Amino acid sequence: MSTTQTIPTVTLNNGVEIPRLGFGVFQVPDDETSAAVASALAAGYRSIDTAAIYGNEAGVGRAIADSGIAREDLFVTSKVWNSDHGYDSTLRAYDATLATLGLEFLDLYLIHWPAPDRGLYTETWRALEKLYAEGRVRAIGVSNFEPEHLERLIDVAEIVPAVNQVELHPALQNRDVIAADARHGIATEAWSPLAQGAVLGDPAIVTIAAAHGKTPAQVVLRWHLQQGRIVIPKSVTPARIAQNLDVFGFDLTARELAAIDALDRNGRTGPHPAEFHG
Ligand code: NDP
Repeated sequence: MSTTQTIPTVTLNNGVEIPRLGFGVFQVPDDETSAAVASALAAGYRSIDTAAIYGNEAGVGRAIADSGIAREDLFVTSKVWNSDHGYDSTLRAYDATLATLGLEFLDLYLIHWPAPDRGLYTETWRALEKLYAEGRVRAIGVSNFEPEHLERLIDVAEIVPAVNQVELHPALQNRDVIAADARHGIATEAWSPLAQGAVLGDPAIVTIAAAHGKTPAQVVLRWHLQQGRIVIPKSVTPARIAQNLDVFGFDLTARELAAIDALDRNGRTGPHPAEFHG
């Protein structure tokens, strides 16, 4: 299996390096996941983002096993679901995730949502800290944490999260979350970086794409990368999978970045984290 290019990395606050661009598998059925992940690995992706709730950790694991790629050359992320919040249940959920993936360790394990009504995310975090202290996971982080959830967690935590994975794209730029992450040395990772396709027809993006001979998706991914974020676009279409990785050979100008910045419009595609309890 050939790697077409080396993907740049971001160094997390514990020294671990994460590829700046990874492959997401949300909403990919388990029986289609192996093919999609195999296509991504063949194209050169080395970071895969899944979650217990996606029901496709087995498909991810099969593709990894079949790829022949050395485990240390991969970066695998999964997430503990809301109904598994709590100390013991999170430890059990981690064991189940590893067993389903067929892996000995994860590179990154995230609390999928704060689910504030459950009131258990600090307990859940204690379990992640234990897994980390035992060397069973290389980095731990959170997802969908608003600044208020981060502050509360960091008040009681021994370890500051390495990553906050949040909805982030031109139509929802989440600047307060990015600022809170930066204050605490947390890397921001953008989920639905393409707004699930909803921004790809925006005239400003289409115009910039034409100027560079690139696609709108490539322009949006480039916009994220030039602002220092980690991205995990999803596709089940091999040509798009390859296209989404081919974003390291051009630069948007400051004016083009600003034109995309101006598209912020509270265009959330998923639930608001303060209101989602799963
Ligand atoms: P994305 O923003 O990655 O968009 C995916 C959609 O865009 C698919 O419909 C795909 O179509 C299409 N697409 C992909 N590439 C292109 C392209 N080059 N040109 C045109 N269309 C394209 O959405 P996701 O919601 O999947 O987010 C990405 C990942 O983020 C997820 O897979 C998951 O890993 C993570 N995530 C995390 C969440 C969390 O709560 N932590 C929540 C949601 C997502 P097709 O597949 O048909 O090619």
